[in-house]
Amino acid sequence: MIQSVAFIGLGAMGYRMAAHLPQHFDTVYVWNRNFEKAQQHATEYGTQAVDLPQAVQADVIFSCLPTSKEVEQLIASVSIKSGAIWVDCTSGVPESAKFLSEQLKLQQVDFLDAPVSGQTIGAETATLTVMVGGETTAFENALPAIQAFGKLIKHVGGAGAGFSVKAVNNMLLAVNLCSVAEGFTALKAHGVDLHAALDCINASSGKSGVTETVLPQRILNRSFPLTFALPLLAKDTGIALDLIREAKLSAPVIALTQSLIQASSDLSNQDSDFSSAVKIYESWSKITLE
Ligand code: NDP
Repeated sequence: MIQSVAFIGLGAMGYRMAAHLPQHFDTVYVWNRNFEKAQQHATEYGTQAVDLPQAVQADVIFSCLPTSKEVEQLIASVSIKSGAIWVDCTSGVPESAKFLSEQLKLQQVDFLDAPVSGQTIGAETATLTVMVGGETTAFENALPAIQAFGKLIKHVGGAGAGFSVKAVNNMLLAVNLCSVAEGFTALKAHGVDLHAALDCINASSGKSGVTETVLPQRILNRSFPLTFALPLLAKDTGIALDLIREAKLSAPVIALTQSLIQASSDLSNQDSDFSSAVKIYESWSKITLE
């Protein structure tokens, strides 16, 4: 029975995910490094902005930070309540989930890797897909809290399995993004109307999430709204490539896509949206996708 929950990391995703918790639980702690955000969250949603030592006294503790490195540092700095479940919604590294799950077991704390998909709009509407790795009992116990912001919630395996699924998902997004940029650049070079082409493709076998939403809503209208930073996508494609390497597999498309996304990220501002990865193609071809 969950009496209290906490959310650590009120960024683009966390701020919105944590907003749903007070509808389901009486005690909802929030903590953020820039503490003003936590105070603003408390005012806006009726959560309690508390210091970190208090936040980790909740029954279920969510985190959503940029990478596993920040999660490991944070966990190493606190004393978590025995019997708690730590649910990490960061898109993290599978090896880190295995390490943290072993470490926390020594303190009678369960760890679940529970990354999410659905972007900020999914966080806002509580319709995120949540892919969870870790022990079945911990998953079952934490499920009522995850349901506050998740729609499809799947236990996909042991520690690290959730992070692995998320990395592969985002690699598929990246592969699509690169191939769509290449294909639409070719169409424009041949004088084809990109909007008409998009209508046809979205009613044909080549459609994808990128053609259905990213291309029309972020690229062709040149808005590139920052909701998911390009360096975070580069981090995810890097995790996917590591999965391939660790299994000693050959995956040329994934390897090339990782190089392209990393190069785009290195050449962009830190606060560029992931969709601006197409600009690397535009700089090469001098053709703008609009
Ligand atoms: P943001 O950059 O918007 O937020 C990052 C959060 O982490 C902020 O609350 C920030 O605090 C905090 N933080 C950063 N460094 C530290 C640190 N050293 N110690 C403590 N807190 C820290 O990221 P997002 O919300 O976009 O992404 C979070 C995770 O979710 C990432 O792993 C990302 O890949 C994943 N994700 C993102 C999606 C998106 O659409 N944005 C979609 C699905 C997954 P502060 O406010 O003080 O800077």
